[in-house]
Amino acid sequence: MPATPGEIRHDRRTGRHSLVVPARARRPGQARAAAGAACPFCPGNEDLLPGIVWQSPDGDGGWRVRVVPNRFAIVAETAAMAAAGGPLARRAAIGRHEVIIEHPRHDLDLAAMPPDHLRHVVTAYRATYRRLAALPGMRMTLLFRNHGAAAGASQRHPHAQAVALAAVPPAVAAERRRLRAYHRRTGDCAICEMARRDADAGDRVVCRNDGFIAVVPFAATAPCEVWLLPRRHRADFGAIDDDECAALAALLRDVLRRLRAALDDPPYNFAISSAAGDAASAPHLHWYLRLVPGTTTPGGFELGTGWSVNPSSPEADAALLRAAAPGA
Ligand SMILES: [Zn+2]
Ligand SMILES: [Zn+2]
Repeated sequence: MPATPGEIRHDRRTGRHSLVVPARARRPGQARAAAGAACPFCPGNEDLLPGIVWQSPDGDGGWRVRVVPNRFAIVAETAAMAAAGGPLARRAAIGRHEVIIEHPRHDLDLAAMPPDHLRHVVTAYRATYRRLAALPGMRMTLLFRNHGAAAGASQRHPHAQAVALAAVPPAVAAERRRLRAYHRRTGDCAICEMARRDADAGDRVVCRNDGFIAVVPFAATAPCEVWLLPRRHRADFGAIDDDECAALAALLRDVLRRLRAALDDPPYNFAISSAAGDAASAPHLHWYLRLVPGTTTPGGFELGTGWSVNPSSPEADAALLRAAAPGA
């Protein structure tokens, strides 16, 4: 954990928030990794890790999936910082940031892992999420993955990240308010309704199994954006059972392999939107996984309007991904 925590800065005049973490600038980049620096996530380099939080038993070398503290955490577990007044507000970014090392092998990406291993990975996601969400004072936990240097992955070794936060970010709070308003108005969960409607229409469905449906959303913000929607209504990703873990692993693998085949291994980010704690019982919240390939760079129009410009049709993208052969 860095000695100096990040700051959540809020400009009340413009309504903008940002997390300012200067220490992140020092994290290892692709250039250094390519220059032969030892990978801290590879077996045998444990002395480069700040510790090991959890690991699944078995596997070659004694583990299959391993969870470690993030050396370049964007949040700190404790911090004292004087809050600034006036239009410029500032507070310490409190939370916990961990890395889920998805395989002992440095060069095996998630999409290339055997189905059985991916089930272990998703089970580790769930275990990590549950543990972080249960930490005292945490109000939101995010599980996410960056793939490819262009999507912000600073380590090539396959890994995901989990961050527990003591505050709910404004964009998350705003989405939750919208879902609550929809539920009050219609008596229905907006995500359940979306999954049903998209499944019936079929034109934006990528693939599906018993537990999940993968769709390109109606208002996709980027080409081949894909959402994995659980068929079972639940707010809390941490509450999914073993069958749902297996179904999620299978469909995620299918989607990643389609993306790789259709777009030649694009960079991407995915994040799991989920509510834990008191919010886990809210009838209007429903967890889902959102994946956005990083094939376009935001331009001045996006900067000035906040609108994403998607140069591709969601219906055509879904057809492209349906037709892509994911391989065995
Ligand atoms: Zn490695
Ligand atoms: Zn629902």
